[in-house]
Amino acid sequence: MSLLEIRDLHIAIGEKPIVKGLSLTLRGGEVHAIMGPNGAGKSTLSKAIAGHPDYTVTGGDILLDGRSLLDMEPDERARAGIFLAFQYPSEIPGVSLANFLRAAVQARIPEGEELDAVAYYKRLYEKMDHLKIDRKFTSRAINEGFSGGEKKRCEILQMMMLEPEFVLMDETDSGLDIDALRIVAEGINSMRGPNFGALVITHYQRLLDYIVPDYVHVLYDGRIVKSGGKEIALELEAKGYDWVQNELAPAA
Ligand code: ADP
Ligand code: MG
Ligand code: MG
Repeated sequence: MSLLEIRDLHIAIGEKPIVKGLSLTLRGGEVHAIMGPNGAGKSTLSKAIAGHPDYTVTGGDILLDGRSLLDMEPDERARAGIFLAFQYPSEIPGVSLANFLRAAVQARIPEGEELDAVAYYKRLYEKMDHLKIDRKFTSRAINEGFSGGEKKRCEILQMMMLEPEFVLMDETDSGLDIDALRIVAEGINSMRGPNFGALVITHYQRLLDYIVPDYVHVLYDGRIVKSGGKEIALELEAKGYDWVQNELAPAA
């Protein structure tokens, strides 16, 4: 079973502490949601896990199946099984979707082993059909001129082809219509199992109607201030983030 352990993590941007002692354990098969107001440090957490160079881990550790990610470059982390889904997937002019995916899948294969091209295309087309992506897309440059929904489908396709152990989704839902939201959710739900878990960061409860989380954590000022089941997301939606803030404030 896959295991992602975040232990007393501290993250700074420049000199500024942003995440201030955060611990979280994700097991394969689990979906954890992180909610919290703007500026709480949600994106900072996901970027630091993925290894973005602007985010300095100043304390604690992140372990994937017992191995620290901290001394790995972002591409090594991806090969180890971490997949970061972007809020705004970028365009890569001149690189076709098929070539991009093939290189990425090849990179996940143990060194010395060859990718079986026939099996690869069979799997690619199966997943594309499943996601209702036209096969013509394989020859198009990645994300160039794609609509929002098409970008999202292609990102989910990428995730399904790479078979990561953990996906981090940072506000993937913002700006998505219901159809695109369903595609994202179905993609995640279809992969859910002992070797796949998800950390879903979202400002709104909506996505969690489709990807039902096992745990919801509220991040506030760089710390998890509340954890519980999916009912927390509903409570937040109803009462707003003031509710958490008021609970934290000493009684007047
Ligand atoms: P969230 O995703 O929860 O809205 P972020 O992780 O994006 O929060 O931001 C947390 C804090 O870090 C905010 O106070 C934000 O202003 C600050 N921050 C984010 N990115 C940068 C940056 N590149 N340089 C300086 N401060 C930043
Ligand atoms: Mg933000
Ligand atoms: Mg953010």
